[in-house]
Amino acid sequence: MAVASRGFQVFVKPAGAACNLACRYCYYLGKGASVPEGGPARMPEDLLEDYIAQHIAASPDEIIRFSWHGGEPTVLGVDYFRRIVEIQRAHRPSGRTIANGMQTNGTLLDEEWGRFLAAEGFSVGLSLDGRVSFTTAIVSRRMGHLHSTRRCAATRSCGGTASRPTSSAS
Ligand code: SF4
Repeated sequence: MAVASRGFQVFVKPAGAACNLACRYCYYLGKGASVPEGGPARMPEDLLEDYIAQHIAASPDEIIRFSWHGGEPTVLGVDYFRRIVEIQRAHRPSGRTIANGMQTNGTLLDEEWGRFLAAEGFSVGLSLDGRVSFTTAIVSRRMGHLHSTRRCAATRSCGGTASRPTSSAS
């Protein structure tokens, strides 16, 4: 694997377009955005490990940055991301730092997620729409989860411009 000549960022969608919400403006609607009853499709572990190893090998900077997006990445569950961190640790070269970021609609985050994200130093971009009355008009729910006021990165090329980092890289 060749090392890139300068730093780069890759937005990874391990659950594809799957999301627990159905915003009227989402460009994923009708493109596999719904979460099937058996749970969302997920990037299989061997592919995940290949990606992580190759991303690390190609990253030229001391800090190796990973960006997890969707759809909604938290539909995969916190254990999926625990495994991601384990794989990263197994491949992290000595003296290098791995930094994780996640863009989320925030509606599935609970205490367990909060403890995990804080312990692992994830930067979290929380997508916001605005007032509840406005959001309620354009968002419907899937999987019975309460939605908050948010706007998704999917509407702005996953650039995370409204990101509100909660912690620095580990
Ligand atoms: S939260 Fe984002 S990915 Fe989910 S339906 Fe809304 S715009 Fe689409």
